[in-house]
Amino acid sequence: MYDNDIRRLVDADRAHVWHHLFQHRQLDIRDPRVIVRGEGMRVWDQNGTEFLDAVSGGVWTVNLGYGRDSIGEAIKEQVVRMAYFAGSAGTVPAARYAEMLIERMPGLARVYYTNSGSEANEKAFKMVRQIAEKRSDGRKHKILFRERDYHGTTIGTLSACGQEQRASHYGPFAPGFVAVPHCLEYRRQWDGPDYGLRAADAIEEVILREGPDTVGALCLEPVTAGGGVIVPPEGYWARVQEICRRYDILLHIDEVVCGLGRTGEWFGYQNFGVQPDIVTMAKGVASGYAAIACCVTTEAVFDMFRSDASDPLDHFRDISTFGGCTAGPAAAIETMRIIEDEGLLDNVRVMGARLMTGLETLMDRHECIGDVRGLGLFAGAELVADRASRTPMEEGMVSQVVAACDRRGVLIGMTNRSIPGFNNTLCLAPALIAGPDEIDRIVATLDEALTEVTGHA
Ligand code: PMP
Repeated sequence: MYDNDIRRLVDADRAHVWHHLFQHRQLDIRDPRVIVRGEGMRVWDQNGTEFLDAVSGGVWTVNLGYGRDSIGEAIKEQVVRMAYFAGSAGTVPAARYAEMLIERMPGLARVYYTNSGSEANEKAFKMVRQIAEKRSDGRKHKILFRERDYHGTTIGTLSACGQEQRASHYGPFAPGFVAVPHCLEYRRQWDGPDYGLRAADAIEEVILREGPDTVGALCLEPVTAGGGVIVPPEGYWARVQEICRRYDILLHIDEVVCGLGRTGEWFGYQNFGVQPDIVTMAKGVASGYAAIACCVTTEAVFDMFRSDASDPLDHFRDISTFGGCTAGPAAAIETMRIIEDEGLLDNVRVMGARLMTGLETLMDRHECIGDVRGLGLFAGAELVADRASRTPMEEGMVSQVVAACDRRGVLIGMTNRSIPGFNNTLCLAPALIAGPDEIDRIVATLDEALTEVTGHA
């Protein structure tokens, strides 16, 4: 559509677009990259250079790959029929998608629509605060979050940010958010066996220190994403569930990254047999084709907001303007149909295993890989300067590995830059449609890039 105009639009990008997570000084010496086309797992930039996208649109979102006609058609048909209505009324695709979602989330019952992961988490935090007000005069209001987890970019969600450097310029933050230790076994914080149980017990220690009657919710990623692709160790989740039940604490699981198939189950938590009270999701819901996010709760949570019909103010006093867009649920319905019809959950398990085996092979060949971990089509390789001492590889060198893959036409990611101590993990999250050729190419490219950067294979 804009092909003849692309040079001018790259200049417009340089002049007027403020890119996310980006130091614009870099554009003093090079052009911005503008992605102009996508098909399957491949994208092309303004120069016609092709890339294999192993990070699903940069931040693990385009789970079904690019160029899906049927999602475009579903959006078009719906927005022409009825584009938008918000407030107290519902819409047809919102009702249909809620039904489909709840069928796949046993034990949960209600879907609250919004339009980003941060906002979905804000909704959950507000629910917890209002429940505290109703049931304990505000006393049970604290929300626990875990070191290394991330829940969004707003001031509220940054108050629950386990990646300190990401939040550091933006305080002061909201009170009542308390950190619990992370559970990455590779970076052991405790000696002894049963690391998963020990890490979960550390949460209980925080609860006891704070006072169980002051803690309303525990918010966790099922697999910590940007904080290092951390899959909780054996035993962790069952113990976490037990602790939440013991102290009457709501378990809120942030599925913004893992939700809708990334880990090989519909939701990350379903790998661990845990039963949450609140689940938030965003990226994979419509695979990036429309902005939609959901905060899903049990009927018990929902019930707390309809306790007094005679009081018009006694309800969840929240709205999301773009939670009323029908493009989101229309795209989400089609996304779910594709995942099912194309058997993508199975594909994720098979291709995820292939990716993990490939990374383990690389670990045998490259001393600089200290640890590989992951679940489904979501994997991390933690790079170290020295395997014995586990000293992290310095950030500049990790970035060089990412750049070396880029030069070879494969886009990979790394944990959040400028967070000392954990900016050293390469992240791979290819689309759920990835086949053996794509997985093998990603692994082979990484092999070459590591050899180039470290100077030995
Ligand atoms: N939760 C997690 C686990 C995330 O990774 C992110 C975004 N990377 C968010 C929440 C925030 O989502 P959004 O950027 O859509 O607000």
